[in-house]
Amino acid sequence: FFRPLEKIAAVIETYPRGIAGFQRYLDLMAETPDIEDRPDAREAPALTGNIRFDDVHFTYDGARGVLHGVTLDVAAGETVALVGPSGAGKTTMMALVPRFYDPSAGEIRIDGIPLGEMTLDSLRRQVGLVSQDVFLFGGTLRENIAYGRLDATEDEILEAVRHAQLSELVETLSAGLDTVVGERGVMLSGGQRQRVAIARVFLRNPPILLLDEATSALDRTTEREVQAALARLSVGRTTLIIAHRLETVRHADRIVVMDGGRIVEIGSHDDLVARQQAYFSLLG
Ligand code: ADP
Ligand code: MG
Repeated sequence: FFRPLEKIAAVIETYPRGIAGFQRYLDLMAETPDIEDRPDAREAPALTGNIRFDDVHFTYDGARGVLHGVTLDVAAGETVALVGPSGAGKTTMMALVPRFYDPSAGEIRIDGIPLGEMTLDSLRRQVGLVSQDVFLFGGTLRENIAYGRLDATEDEILEAVRHAQLSELVETLSAGLDTVVGERGVMLSGGQRQRVAIARVFLRNPPILLLDEATSALDRTTEREVQAALARLSVGRTTLIIAHRLETVRHADRIVVMDGGRIVEIGSHDDLVARQQAYFSLLG
């Protein structure tokens, strides 16, 4: 039983370490039997990132509905926070964007193009993901940062390192970016691993960003650093964020409150506080 966004890490673990293993994993994702390119699928153009969920329904097992008609229009560049109780369907909704799953009814379009009309590869290249469990394979820090952009120049990598607030770490490592990380090398903390994921996304520069925020396990200083890096990462990108911290929610352009697979409220922090309904009661 894999949670959608954790599926990646879980599948990777069964693969040989290193870039080759990771590439095979990417191939595997592209060949997932239930999700594949439609025969008429085309390369997606460079997307601006307007995401529209149109009456989306979803079930994992064909029996129990998890999303019951979700409709949401996210403007290009907008930051939308998804909040609501555990099990509300937030992670599932996010997992539909890179087509880890397809809706059982309804449709999702980006820039007006139904997801199924784009090749998986060209879609997923334009969606960045930072989730709770960041997977590092047993290579160097450099390889781990550049994994999605093997052609990246040294300057580009260093810029991503800076944006992700990893410069200090790199300076303290004796071999710098060439330090081997993971089980056979330097073990990175949770906050450092999240910043590696952030650096990867900076380097890939996708127009769409999915954040399953989980900084609450980090200490306050690390949390603030990761938060700052995430805030910078989301600038100019359409961002869907599952926020566990109120501070993040406040900064979102809009907050979507979900419950039982439905959107029950949408608005800015101030709007929703004034309404004194679902969001207000989540604040406790
Ligand atoms: P949230 O992120 O809001 O906590 P999820 O999207 O993770 O909610 O889960 C919504 C519902 O779908 C829950 O009832 C959860 O148990 C179920 N669910 C999540 N992932 C899977 C899965 N891979 N297989 C079956 N059911 C799942
Ligand atoms: Mg979740």
